[in-house]
Amino acid sequence: MSNRKALIAGAGIGALATGLALLKRGWKVQLFEQSDEIRILGAGIYIWENGLRVLESLGVYAKVIEGAIPVQRRERRGDRGELMGFESISQSGRCYIPLRHSLLTALRDGFIEAGGEISFGIPVIGADPEGELKFANGTSLRGDLIIGADGINSRVRDSLGLLRWRRSVGQFGYRIMIDRERWEADDPVRSVVSEHWNRGRRLLYAPCTREKAYVQLTTLRSDPLSDAPYDCGAWLATFPHLAWLIERIPSNGKSDWFEVIRLKAWSSGRVALIGDAASAQPPFLGQGGGVAMTSGLALAHALTRHDDVAAGIAEWERGERPFVEWVQSVSSWYGELARLPPKLRRMAIGVIVGNEWVRQRTIRCAAVRPPVGAS
Ligand SMILES: Cc1cc2nc3c(=O)[nH]c(=O)nc-3n(C[C@H](O)[C@H](O)[C@H](O)COP(=O)(O)OP(=O)(O)OC[C@H]3O[C@@H](n4cnc5c(N)ncnc54)[C@H](O)[C@@H]3O)c2cc1C
Repeated sequence: MSNRKALIAGAGIGALATGLALLKRGWKVQLFEQSDEIRILGAGIYIWENGLRVLESLGVYAKVIEGAIPVQRRERRGDRGELMGFESISQSGRCYIPLRHSLLTALRDGFIEAGGEISFGIPVIGADPEGELKFANGTSLRGDLIIGADGINSRVRDSLGLLRWRRSVGQFGYRIMIDRERWEADDPVRSVVSEHWNRGRRLLYAPCTREKAYVQLTTLRSDPLSDAPYDCGAWLATFPHLAWLIERIPSNGKSDWFEVIRLKAWSSGRVALIGDAASAQPPFLGQGGGVAMTSGLALAHALTRHDDVAAGIAEWERGERPFVEWVQSVSSWYGELARLPPKLRRMAIGVIVGNEWVRQRTIRCAAVRPPVGAS
């Protein structure tokens, strides 16, 4: 089964992790990325136990987490800073929040060192279930396996008519990195990952390294702050006790409307979809990238057991898809906390973070599931 060839649309987290997992199993792998280089957003990214195990099995774990601080505790706080609930992360495995730059460059370097090829500036326009990847310049290439890892607007997925629905969850997010003072790494308040709520507004503060912290601000569609430039004054009025952090937030962050998608199928013949192309979700669990990596590893693993690529893909989809769709749903439900009246939200958070059984089946569900194919 060696010398089989995989062609992958995209060069993001899903494509690079899947490509590296295939290379390690003897495949030839070529990635086609529409941008002129790896797209690296200046933000942090939660990587929970599931994703960390994939990185270990791909041999890039140490490089990704170099300098990153292990997350020990995550707090939820109300509009005056009062504690609503907390979790000790170590109860359900490890969590780090490295810079996206560290994750993507480690995956890219591992992929190239393992013999993978990346072609930049090559937009893909679709695929054929028989094993053909089609490019915007009118050419196409054949492979034993085609993967659409071309993100939420996947051309590969749409060319095969696999999208069932795509919905906005009615929430808007602004994300950015801020600088930290060296002493803050030892400060009991400023060294803890914390989520702050006031009505439909949520501020997430996540120290990544001793020098950098990740901040995410989310608002409901009806909020005037949605789809608008960063408004320091409005956020100060919302969380006055967080002035030390809000005044440091730059205005050149990245903004997104959050969406969730559901597919009729994750595959067609020799074509499989990975990551946001198949399982885009709002970021409330920090698992979009995690399940992109676990799905990619599971696919590479399933294909080692099958000469028939389409049969391997079908087995992989049966094993992975129901669980990942559950993760998408949980992530959407967690975001709905923003719509609850404060008292009800406090009660809901108390149940979600305070009860181990509930926690493992909701906010930790993906993190505690051992990834298929990880050694
Ligand atoms: C605000 C926010 C916070 C998040 N936080 C986390 C988190 O903490 N932890 C986590 O695990 N996940 C998080 N996610 C989700 C995570 O970023 C995504 O799930 C992950 O990036 C998906 O990877 P991907 O490779 O599938 O897609 P992408 O990262 O979108 O990569 C797709 C690649 O394909 C390329 N491409 C697109 N179209 C074409 C084409 N036609 N031809 C060729 N190339 C193409 C793109 O240029 C891109 O490089 C967050 C998402 C958001 C919006």
